Amino acid sequence: MDTTQYDVVIIGAGLGGLLCGAILSKEGMKVCILEKNEQIGGSLQTFRRDGLSLDTGIHYIGGLDKGQTLYQIFNYLGMMDRLELAKMDEGGFDMILFKDDDIQYPHGMGYERFISLLTVIFPDEKTAIVTYCDEIRKTCKSVPLYNMSLEDKYEDPDILSQSAKTIIESFTTNEKLRAVLAGSNMLYAGYATRTPWYVHALIQNSYIESSWRCSKGGDQIAKILARQIKTNDGQILTKATVTGIHEENGAAIYAELESGHKIYGARYISNLHPSITLDMLDSKAIKPVYKNRIKGLDNSVSAFVLNVILKPNSYKYSNRNYYYFDDLNVWNATNYTEENWPFTYGIFEAVPHDDSIYTESVSVMTYMKWGEISQWENTFNTSIHETSRAEEYESFKQLKAKKLLDTVALKFPDLVKHTKSWYAATPLTYRDYLATPMGSIYGIAKDYTNPIRTQISPNTKISNLYLTGQNIKLHGVLGVALTSLVTCSSIIGKEYLINKIIKANEAAA
Ligand SMILES: Cc1cc2nc3c(=O)[nH]c(=O)nc-3n(C[C@H](O)[C@H](O)[C@H](O)COP(=O)(O)OP(=O)(O)OC[C@H]3O[C@@H](n4cnc5c(N)ncnc54)[C@H](O)[C@@H]3O)c2cc1C
Repeated sequence: MDTTQYDVVIIGAGLGGLLCGAILSKEGMKVCILEKNEQIGGSLQTFRRDGLSLDTGIHYIGGLDKGQTLYQIFNYLGMMDRLELAKMDEGGFDMILFKDDDIQYPHGMGYERFISLLTVIFPDEKTAIVTYCDEIRKTCKSVPLYNMSLEDKYEDPDILSQSAKTIIESFTTNEKLRAVLAGSNMLYAGYATRTPWYVHALIQNSYIESSWRCSKGGDQIAKILARQIKTNDGQILTKATVTGIHEENGAAIYAELESGHKIYGARYISNLHPSITLDMLDSKAIKPVYKNRIKGLDNSVSAFVLNVILKPNSYKYSNRNYYYFDDLNVWNATNYTEENWPFTYGIFEAVPHDDSIYTESVSVMTYMKWGEISQWENTFNTSIHETSRAEEYESFKQLKAKKLLDTVALKFPDLVKHTKSWYAATPLTYRDYLATPMGSIYGIAKDYTNPIRTQISPNTKISNLYLTGQNIKLHGVLGVALTSLVTCSSIIGKEYLINKIIKANEAAA
């Protein structure tokens, strides 16, 4: 029996748990991370098929050029020298496509390029495009942590309650340009009556600043963090499903594993969806009103992702992503109907190996609501709990894959022609591997109509239990990294942590 008393026990080795583990162990704490899966990383996991390693949930990352926000955090953690990154096409890292329109609308890297490329296509809209870029930068400047500032308050508190759709529409009456500016909203499952402008601005800014792919798969981030944690004397236990957090007198005493083992710590951080964390807690300190509030929050939609393996040396790597829509109603894409599915999709290519000009695989991602697969919700299948689902589930996947590939073929006939095989992930996949309610891809959906409700505090009524991960502040690699800073600040102090990050970056400059 492990009776070690850790300084911090972290539940979940997703990006959030690993970053907190890396930060706190670097700052001298004895850390233990408990992960239910065989593989660490959560959404950063990869899987192998046909001899290839395929990414599950990270296609590109923003803000990794020297001095940019994510760079500063990763650099403080000593990761920048180890990450193998490939910069995407500066002349259009994201291309926005529409049915019945042959133009590919680029999102260029760097604000000047972003403005000039779109102005060529929309010559009368230069003022609108410039104003859009200015507003994004103004919003980002207003968020202190994004700028490693110790300020507590947003410079402009109104940014939380502004609608992304309304703000974008305020720049121009040109319907096509509006749709192009919002065209990568699959990055946050954009929805007209919910998505805040600040979510669009923070994410879009990071990619316009610089966009990168992990050349050797997204799991390298998890592996580098794990190595750092172990170097700092931390532990990571896999196949360690936490089933309970036990509390006495308002403090957590131990985390209990499915195996019955108890892991003791002075502090606990949960990287899980907060409603799942609350279900694990047997405590009167958590008021039903808080529990109901968390459980009542909407989660972002789930996805259907086809991991397509291409015939060798058949499909050229373009170093770009593509976001497609059936029409200009891009803010309603998550609310598709059976008839118009797949109304939208994103295509993400894997970086070729050995200087080849051909990519070996692409991910094709579209939305999928839980209701489509709910008839199989009582089944559970992961690599360590293998269960074969009914044949109808396989037929369902086949049908959906065909429909998605038929739509993709309209714009990318060669991709479909050169497909060797595909492997589909559905909302069930995300639920089972990540333990997110209804397979939600980005967790709790931020809502500009009630911003405070959807911003969760990392502190809880249990004095030594903290929350982290995409559900708390923001999702995505950048969002989860910023959230980890918020969580760790609650433990070691914000001033201390931010100054450490600033100093580490000054030293590297
Ligand atoms: C399909 C898809 C594509 C994406 N593409 C991008 C992209 O291109 N760029 C980008 O920046 N972001 C992208 N994201 C978002 C990004 O990957 C996530 O926001 C981020 O990785 C979430 O990290 P997390 O630590 O909050 O949660 P998770 O990754 O969900 O980690 C939670 C961890 O907790 C573990 N766990 C759950 N229950 C238990 C338990 N009971 N006991 C122990 N462990 C448990 C899980 O196994 C998991 O490892 C994408 C996400 C998806 C799903």
